[in-house]
Amino acid sequence: MHYTGTIWRPPYEAYSALVQVTAGCTHHKCKFCTLYEDVPFKFRMSPLSEVEEDLKEISRYHRNAKRVFFTGANPFVLSFDKLKTLAELVKKYYPKVQSIGCFARITDITPKTTEQLRELRQLGYNSITIGAEAGDEESLSFMHKGFGTKEIIAESKRLDEVGMDYNFFYLAGIYGSGRGEIGAKNTAKVFNQVHPKIIVSSMLTIYPTSELHQEIQNGNWTEETEIEKLYELKTLIENLNIETYFATMGASNCINVEGHLLKDKAKMTKWLDEVIASVDEKELRRYRENLRHL
Ligand code: SF4
Repeated sequence: MHYTGTIWRPPYEAYSALVQVTAGCTHHKCKFCTLYEDVPFKFRMSPLSEVEEDLKEISRYHRNAKRVFFTGANPFVLSFDKLKTLAELVKKYYPKVQSIGCFARITDITPKTTEQLRELRQLGYNSITIGAEAGDEESLSFMHKGFGTKEIIAESKRLDEVGMDYNFFYLAGIYGSGRGEIGAKNTAKVFNQVHPKIIVSSMLTIYPTSELHQEIQNGNWTEETEIEKLYELKTLIENLNIETYFATMGASNCINVEGHLLKDKAKMTKWLDEVIASVDEKELRRYRENLRHL
């Protein structure tokens, strides 16, 4: 198999066949991000011959996979024609495949027409994972996400229109100290207008090689305390009113909270209240500082 650098996938893609069709990220500018630092170039699409070799190999020992997940930070950036060719290759080696997933940036959806999105859905692309991070204009702009709240809403609605499911990655702590509550309320207002199936929450963990670390050193930004991040999560959950599954996933979370938002909201916020009342900032901080790798 051809894999370049660390392979990142959402936790719920654990049973998918992981196939590298791109490596790296076309954007590569988010201030907090250190994810693709070990890739020796910014972005690359794998040659089709390489993808085909990998599909041939993985389909031998991962024969019954019902889902293929394309790796790389944003394979959905590829043109409609390339995505179509890749889906046809998947079908050749996995005739029974039910769907294809990948990470996508909001800006990867923009250049595709609604008809193309509809066809991609029919070709199997579904439940793509979008690193929306937040719905707070100030934070998205400061962090150089490369898109704003209007784009999140507009492009998600186009996915809704063609019936392509999507999940959001949310980044607790993105607002900075003192802005957690207002940021979470802004995010809820944006996320409430669209229909992510799952909202996966991670917690901001700042590594020295990130641009954000430099911003902190320069006095331009202050990190939320760990307890502020927990209050932020509580505010977000309280203010979200869409049918979605909300879950902290991955090592960056010092606590876990998850549930069906509408049904379990009261349970989730009560649990967060209990945690907030009993945790010690220093202990949580120690946990964060010992996270060598996400
Ligand atoms: S957060 Fe995602 S989009 Fe931003 S630089 Fe990292 S991989 Fe690229």
